[in-house]
Amino acid sequence: MSVFGTVLAVTGHIGYHPSWDCETCGEPWPCPSFRAIPRDRLDGTALIPVMSCVLRRAIRDLRGRPEGPQPPEIVKRFLWFLPLNDEEARAIALRMR
Ligand SMILES: [Zn+2]
Repeated sequence: MSVFGTVLAVTGHIGYHPSWDCETCGEPWPCPSFRAIPRDRLDGTALIPVMSCVLRRAIRDLRGRPEGPQPPEIVKRFLWFLPLNDEEARAIALRMR
């Protein structure tokens, strides 16, 4: 989690395994406050490797829950900064199993 911490701790809004709720505001993470951080402070090229790493874990944690999100929805949630359509999100989810 060291890269994760370095990149994301600066924001103050951070969520961890296994709940993936923001420790600061309690919203499902990445929470609205985190996603609202301007791109000059949090750029996509730094986020892709970090979020890919946590995404695999998040899918394992969240997919089995009753009423929980489906894997493609989890992909879209954690990779919100990429313009993914449903098909692409599904393809990524399949590779994360
Ligand atoms: Zn938050």
